[in-house]
Amino acid sequence: MIGVNEIRSTFLDYFRKNGHEVVASSPLVPRNDPTLMFTNAGMVQFKNVFTGLEKRPYNRATTAQKSVRAGGKHNDLDNVGYTARHLTFFEMLGNFSFGDYFKEGAIELAWNLVTKGFDLPKDKLLVTVYSEDDEAALLWKKIAGFSDDKIIRIPTSDNFWQMGDTGPCGPCSEIFIDRGEHIWGGPPGSAEEDGDRFLEFWNLVFMQFDQLAPGERVPLPRPSIDTGMGLERMASILQGVPSVFDTDLFRALIGTTEEVVGAKAEGDSAASFRVIADHLRSSAFLIADGVLPSNEGRGYVLRRIMRRAMRHLQLLGAREPMMYRVLPTLVSEMGRAYPELVRAEPLIAETLKLEETRFRKTLSRGLGLLADETEGLSEGGQLSGETAFRLYDTYGFPLDLTQDALRQRGISVDLAGFDTAMERQKAEARAHWAGSGEAATETVWFPIRERTGATEFLGYDTEGAEGVIQ
Ligand code: ATP
Ligand code: MG
Ligand code: MG
Ligand code: MG
Repeated sequence: MIGVNEIRSTFLDYFRKNGHEVVASSPLVPRNDPTLMFTNAGMVQFKNVFTGLEKRPYNRATTAQKSVRAGGKHNDLDNVGYTARHLTFFEMLGNFSFGDYFKEGAIELAWNLVTKGFDLPKDKLLVTVYSEDDEAALLWKKIAGFSDDKIIRIPTSDNFWQMGDTGPCGPCSEIFIDRGEHIWGGPPGSAEEDGDRFLEFWNLVFMQFDQLAPGERVPLPRPSIDTGMGLERMASILQGVPSVFDTDLFRALIGTTEEVVGAKAEGDSAASFRVIADHLRSSAFLIADGVLPSNEGRGYVLRRIMRRAMRHLQLLGAREPMMYRVLPTLVSEMGRAYPELVRAEPLIAETLKLEETRFRKTLSRGLGLLADETEGLSEGGQLSGETAFRLYDTYGFPLDLTQDALRQRGISVDLAGFDTAMERQKAEARAHWAGSGEAATETVWFPIRERTGATEFLGYDTEGAEGVIQ
């Protein structure tokens, strides 16, 4: 069986032999790019090379890039655990041409690797192209010998790739495999019937434009290539398993979680194990790249990811902090490819332990409140925004954690009500402090509070001052 480490090296070796410089992954926190929350694709570190602002000593490159999609334009947080193919953290394998080869070279290189290097069956493959891109359709016909029904023309933004609201972009062509079976699909006859039967695993982006601002797009100095293949998706294909969570690496993580919590990943609880395994990876890699849990910005995304995993651990029966106990398996599986994980292991373990210790103080009472408040609700019901806000403000439940907790029961949250409660609390806090007559609190304390976010009541048993404002 070919493991993820071997798939990664096969990809990089293939492109190295084809004249590409092997470049290391950049960190998950993009350097000098305030427009982007996390690195979400291989092209991010080359953004200025595409636009011509920066020069490199090579015009072909290949990478295995750490990517997180849990915020901003590409946000897969809500999919994780529920589709066969989405992770919040994944490795994107890519090849890049900076004004060197263009569409024909990119399609040829990809087709050879897929059909010869990875030996995928040609008759199971199909591609999409942007509806106006006749050139790409013709090239696929010529290079792969595809008939028209294997080249699907897509008119939507799915086939026009953009990193974010600004930056390099262009039409793209995606390679899919038809796995033929009813994989993770919905009930027969439903819109989700096909589920993940057709799995997208590689996207070839024909970089032609730079989006300067909404509605303002200029051509790049030289047409370029940016591609991205999901390593974990390719592993699921090559290992013949139904989802990314059944690949070697995830089986190891889920196996350790089973031991730690003393329960099996089966039936209704299987999704919890998947979420924990994925969220452990994204949390560990984010911490290794310098993000720490907090109540704003990147740190709050990390906190949300960690707390979601911790709620799932609680569901599986955890009665003490446990997430950090799965970490050694992750480090032994991925530490060779990513030494920063080994270096940061003690910090990651401490951060996970501290966050879980803190959150556990309010977690079960919050879940109790949630259960009480939704007792009479059935599928299609709605939790009041007021309660969702209380869970957030008093019990430290990020809104998306509450939504995640209710989704299996088909219950939604009144978002407008949540926003109103949030606004009201801010207004009350303002009025209260203004009324106290101390000008300094309004100008000093209030902005601090705005920046740190909600206060979190940790109960009367809280030691010291910890947690009054987190
Ligand atoms: P999807 O349509 O399945 O959400 P995408 O079109 O958003 O994927 P791209 O932006 O084209 O994905 O990224 C390039 C490749 O990276 C994809 O073809 C896929 O193999 C991989 N990939 C993208 N998102 C994820 C994810 N959340 N988890 C794992 N792999 C991913
Ligand atoms: Mg997507
Ligand atoms: Mg897609
Ligand atoms: Mg895609």
